[in-house]
Amino acid sequence: MRDFIKAMASGIDASDYAIAFTGAGISAESGIPTYRGEDGLWEEYDPHLYAHIRSFLQDSSHYWNFFREVRYPLIKKVRPNKAHLALSEMEALGKLKSVITQNIDGLHQDAGSSAVIELHGTTRRIFCMDCSQEYSMEDAFTILKAKCPPPCPNCEGKLRPDVIFFGEPLDSVVLRAAYEEVKKSDFFLVVGSSLVVYPAAELPVRAKQGGAALAIINKEETQLDHLADYVLHDEAGKVLPQIISRIKRD
Ligand code: NAD
Ligand code: ZN
Repeated sequence: MRDFIKAMASGIDASDYAIAFTGAGISAESGIPTYRGEDGLWEEYDPHLYAHIRSFLQDSSHYWNFFREVRYPLIKKVRPNKAHLALSEMEALGKLKSVITQNIDGLHQDAGSSAVIELHGTTRRIFCMDCSQEYSMEDAFTILKAKCPPPCPNCEGKLRPDVIFFGEPLDSVVLRAAYEEVKKSDFFLVVGSSLVVYPAAELPVRAKQGGAALAIINKEETQLDHLADYVLHDEAGKVLPQIISRIKRD
């Protein structure tokens, strides 16, 4: 572990364009369940009902019940943890250029990171599928308390969260921005992702092919451990603050 911290700190310090790539694992210590693995969310809620675009278009009340009972109370309650804060501090120190995240919880921004690319959108923004009016999560919750599914106050149209549901393609503008970052990067740090879903499984490979060093911090093994220059199987909130301390010390 000490050697890992030391090597990571000097690798990041020596890099010109380090970026981070995060998944559900970085928010686990904030109390947000991951999808896969022990205590995975999908053990309790069927993704076909709550997170698939087909089901949402057919009958969005399943999603909105999930939003009212689970998603909203959770997002209102959670705070960024030491791992989010460490990445934000790394940015402030000029050692991290951006964070590409698969998470939809907004915790990187809460921690103070400003360059954040949200590949799967954000659960904090709601918009109308008919008139495009945007609403906050709080607005949607208020409308939802009166009626489920919640109608758009502007046009009575259908509201939806600004997230990518299963069965939907990623936003091409967002994806292109992520690829641009990857192209520029010379240090690619993965934190808390099983690296199984597209494009998670692809971005680190592209970075590596482009000549970047690849580092993975994840509690369990990932698909791409064999490609990485540095791998540590441990908790992000424990490891990242130590890397920051080391960077600051040296
Ligand atoms: P994943 O659930 O597939 O994998 C999470 C990984 O994090 C696991 O391999 C696990 O070992 C690891 N992990 C758990 N706790 C950790 C910790 N404290 N420190 C470091 N690693 C830890 O998640 P994924 O790779 O992000 O991909 C699945 C999808 O899940 C994404 O599409 C994402 O949008 C979605 N998701 C997002 C949130 C969120 O916004 N917080 C939560 C659940 C799922
Ligand atoms: Zn509308």
